[in-house]
Amino acid sequence: MYEDLKGKVAIVTGARRGMGKVHALKLAQEGVKVVVSDISEEDCQKVVDEIGKTGEEGLAVKCDVSKKKEVDELVKKTIEKFGKIDILVNNAGIAQFKPFLEITEEEWNRTLDINLRGYFLCAQAAAKEMTKQKSGVIVNIASVAMGQQGVGFPNLVHYCASKGGIVGMTEAMALELAPLGIRVNVVAPGMIETPMIDPIKQDPKAMEGLMARVPLKRVGKPEEVSNLVLFLASDTSSYMTGAAVVIDGGWLAG
Ligand code: NAP
Repeated sequence: MYEDLKGKVAIVTGARRGMGKVHALKLAQEGVKVVVSDISEEDCQKVVDEIGKTGEEGLAVKCDVSKKKEVDELVKKTIEKFGKIDILVNNAGIAQFKPFLEITEEEWNRTLDINLRGYFLCAQAAAKEMTKQKSGVIVNIASVAMGQQGVGFPNLVHYCASKGGIVGMTEAMALELAPLGIRVNVVAPGMIETPMIDPIKQDPKAMEGLMARVPLKRVGKPEEVSNLVLFLASDTSSYMTGAAVVIDGGWLAG
């Protein structure tokens, strides 16, 4: 579908399951060589095996995005194997449901370390490689929980803070990286069917309340978000940078 993606090299973080896995598989279907990274290398290898069945090449790399050493190693292994990085999908994230008054400093730090500092570390390391070829695309996965025009979520204060940070960081990065040929955008999903929303699904009343606010009256599918990631990764979106694109079944329009 996107001819220009053929032969490109992408890193997807948090790709052992959920949306990251689907982004990795969808990119591979477009002819992209995908580095599948997450905390569990074994699970990443399973995704790479699936990619192999489509005839594309992949690479599994263990990487905790909150650890600079592991992020640097991720980039090094990508360059060793494929020689370049064209696309980074910053996707790894955690959502810990806990009342604001009970969140400990350690829990706050852990969420921000993975969801925000991890995005910074990966983006910076990848962008240093992208500048060498004067081209590249970074897609940062935030959420409708990004604040401002987004929605607030009780029991997710640290998560919301991290997702809002991604939007501000992306805008500033886009300004600095535009002259270097690198585009940076945000994808802000609403409620998407992945293991991350299992705790919400356990409370049918909460789920009902949330769905009442979504005009399309359903949870989104990871594939639907991947379609947007592919569009932003391809040259089809060549005039887009610094943007935050919402994909939420109409939630924020309500
Ligand atoms: P998911 O199924 O939980 O996938 C997230 C992946 O990231 C998991 O494999 C997780 O591994 C991994 N991860 C966690 N900490 C990591 C770290 N330090 N380093 C590397 N990988 C790490 O959730 P998802 O729904 O696909 O989420 C993907 C992204 O979309 C996240 O950024 C999330 O905030 C965002 N998002 C999700 C929704 C939704 O409704 N699902 C909505 C808006 C935004 P473990 O399983 O081992 O923790």
